[in-house]
Amino acid sequence: MSTPAIIVTVAAAVIGMELFAWWAHRYVMHGWGWAWHRDHHEPHDRALEKNDLFAVVFGAMVVTMFAVGYLYSDLLWWTAFGITVYGFIYTFIHDGVVHQRYFRWVPKRGYAKRLVQAHKLHHATIGKEGGVSFGFVFAARPERLKAELKRQCEAGIAQVRSSSLEADRARQEAREIARV
Ligand SMILES: [Zn+2]
Ligand SMILES: [Zn+2]
Repeated sequence: MSTPAIIVTVAAAVIGMELFAWWAHRYVMHGWGWAWHRDHHEPHDRALEKNDLFAVVFGAMVVTMFAVGYLYSDLLWWTAFGITVYGFIYTFIHDGVVHQRYFRWVPKRGYAKRLVQAHKLHHATIGKEGGVSFGFVFAARPERLKAELKRQCEAGIAQVRSSSLEADRARQEAREIARV
């Protein structure tokens, strides 16, 4: 494959994966796959979640794509490469910046802050019904997401934690007390 074709393939795979991730998160994880996604939405102190199994499944699919692509198709191989690039972007944003599993850095401004706010608002609902911000790289403005959450609550579609931020703080305090 020519270099421009490779660049287009990888870029298309990255953008396509954000769309796929939005769809899978909205309709699979908050649908029939909720049993695996559920513990990601509930407070706990374990290092691993059942939700991590999704990463294992998707990882296995990409490894298969690499193997088949290596044997039969450059296009498939570079698509798998683009999916892997997306995987790193996703885990850096979602597991790293938002959930602080790898490092502690809280963005104070700009688009990084908006990403965190948007995903925290995704976590504001209780259960699998309703909810906002199912994507990970493209995030709407928090004001828009809050308005949508309010609309869903009023329409009885979603149930929101009394205050997600308050719950976070209470959990943090409980952890500190337990340590003393
Ligand atoms: Zn979710
Ligand atoms: Zn999350």
